[in-house]
Amino acid sequence: MSNLEKHPVEVVEVSEPSDGVTVLEPRDVPLGGPRAMNVRRTLPQRSRSLIGGWCFVDHYGPDLVSAGPGMVVPPHPHTGLQTVSWLFAGVIDHRDSVGSHAPVRPGELNLMTAGSGISHSEVSTRDTTILHGAQLWVALPDSARHGSPAFENYVPEPFVLGDATVRVFIGELAGRASTATVFSRLLGAQVDLPAGTSVTFDVDPGFEHGVLVDAGDVTVEGMPVPLSHLGYVPLGRSTVTISTGGLPATVLLLGGEPLGERIVMWWNFIGRTHDEIVEYRDAWQHDVIAGGNPNGRFGAVAYDGRALPAPELPVNVRLSPRG
Ligand code: MN
Repeated sequence: MSNLEKHPVEVVEVSEPSDGVTVLEPRDVPLGGPRAMNVRRTLPQRSRSLIGGWCFVDHYGPDLVSAGPGMVVPPHPHTGLQTVSWLFAGVIDHRDSVGSHAPVRPGELNLMTAGSGISHSEVSTRDTTILHGAQLWVALPDSARHGSPAFENYVPEPFVLGDATVRVFIGELAGRASTATVFSRLLGAQVDLPAGTSVTFDVDPGFEHGVLVDAGDVTVEGMPVPLSHLGYVPLGRSTVTISTGGLPATVLLLGGEPLGERIVMWWNFIGRTHDEIVEYRDAWQHDVIAGGNPNGRFGAVAYDGRALPAPELPVNVRLSPRG
């Protein structure tokens, strides 16, 4: 997914006691284009840039897309991050500059590692009627961010833990581990719970966690977390308890060891300095948008249409690191 937000970080979190669960509010962000899809973004925001290495959390749908174009995101670049595409309904056709052409299906992880540079397109398929999912990004640590781009698909086997059905797509939870390639200690799992039930996970106290509520009336550690909100659970907990009220629930449990690095995130790029971001932007504009070098940093995507030009950088402002 491409970040088209013009004025990022407009909404301030609802603060709760610092040792408890903090509820991060989503803001609506249009993906651009005519009849654009809206996504609900909970990360980054003013009060929080990262949860472990997780640096971007968009939630969208369920949207009826059979009458419109659905999701149409033309080729656009990434650096220094991994994109995690996770669907609840619908199918997205993914193409990238390392030659991948793959469907993103519900319950399947599609993980794209940008490393030093990749480009990709994402278009919902013609037979998709309902589109519903999450687009997540992971910031690569400095040791991995100049590496080679890559793409992989991983299908977690669902398992039952008490009342919960769990799919671990990144990292390890309840003794089940994903084989997906990550470069810092991370967790990503879908948890489905019937109405009126509760599940307690043993978690790494060295992780911070976020619970994104996709459906249902959910409390995390006793704190109500509304739909499309992200319940932030700070470091130092050895368990995380998720409970439901009168409706069945679906959540994504995200976690990770704090990245411990300050990042610069602008448009679809992650770097460490303003000047790096300028270099990435110039490469995209020169090599791809102006057609100057199809073998450049971002390669080329087999796509019928134009690539997305980068927005202008803010004038007279140097981007500063966060995190
Ligand atoms: Mn993208």
